[in-house]
Amino acid sequence: MSGSKCTRLGGPLVKQVLESVDSVLFDCDGVIWRGDQAIPGAAQVINLLKENGKKVFFVTNNSTKTRKMYADKMNTLGFDATEEEVFGTAYCSAMYLKTVCKVEGKVYLVGSNAMKQELEAVGIQQTGVGPDLISGKQLDWANVPLDADVKAVVVGFDEHFSYMKLNRALQYLSQPGCLFVGTNRDTRLPLEGGKAVPGTGCLLKAVETAAQRQAETVGKPNHFMFDCVASQYGIDPNRCLMVGDRLDTDIMLGSNCGLKTLLTLTGVSTVADAEAHQKSGCAERQGMVPDYYVDSIADLLPALQG
Ligand code: PLP
Ligand code: CA
Repeated sequence: MSGSKCTRLGGPLVKQVLESVDSVLFDCDGVIWRGDQAIPGAAQVINLLKENGKKVFFVTNNSTKTRKMYADKMNTLGFDATEEEVFGTAYCSAMYLKTVCKVEGKVYLVGSNAMKQELEAVGIQQTGVGPDLISGKQLDWANVPLDADVKAVVVGFDEHFSYMKLNRALQYLSQPGCLFVGTNRDTRLPLEGGKAVPGTGCLLKAVETAAQRQAETVGKPNHFMFDCVASQYGIDPNRCLMVGDRLDTDIMLGSNCGLKTLLTLTGVSTVADAEAHQKSGCAERQGMVPDYYVDSIADLLPALQG
């Protein structure tokens, strides 16, 4: 197999690479779908990988859905997937709080209803989900009523993010021993036509700035996402391929965990971005250089069909 990195994956090399792995981790947005539209051929690739005996998992930094919601979306789009194969940051953050932080008490959640459901599924109660409306009389910001059971602040994607939530998070984080966990640091969510909207990283930065503290983050590129999969399914990193569209999250996760890495060009990052990291000579940036790249994961189809 080629010794150099950032190699176009095509021809006989596809089969060789697929034969060298037992499991494949797929990022979701920009890899298997874009928004609500499946990438053409992606469902066939996933389904054929499974028919060929590969274990397939989905690792997404998007905290707005439960495992069940992802599995339902995948099934609707023609993917053969179960909720046990989905590792999103809503679920993984709940696992992190339970198994790593061993949090006892409630969580102040700046996040989605899906996060609330995943927290509750592992026995962690939350306060904070939904709009936190400022009452006309509430002007004593530093003395807002707090819940004495709260032992951690957790920040994910929250469409109801507000000054009041930011303030409440700061008040909790000023208490001794209060844990601080974020789902992920993606700063922008790219949309069709070159547009973008603010990602969870913006909300997390706001809370970190207010609290003058750094959160621990669960999502890619933190190895916890892979640890979750590996501990449940006994994955050998040497025989595992990470497929993603972002160099700073997906490819970095793969590098951090000793996986083979494949960049697909249907999302955020480009080959030029990867080459710039490679040529930089900066040791840290080498983790963002993928082993291989493809235009689309549909490029794997011929090797799976033949
Ligand atoms: N976070 C949010 C809120 C999103 O909507 C998305 C993509 O839609 C992401 C993160 C990135 O998800 P992924 O890791 O699947 O690319
Ligand atoms: Ca992605």
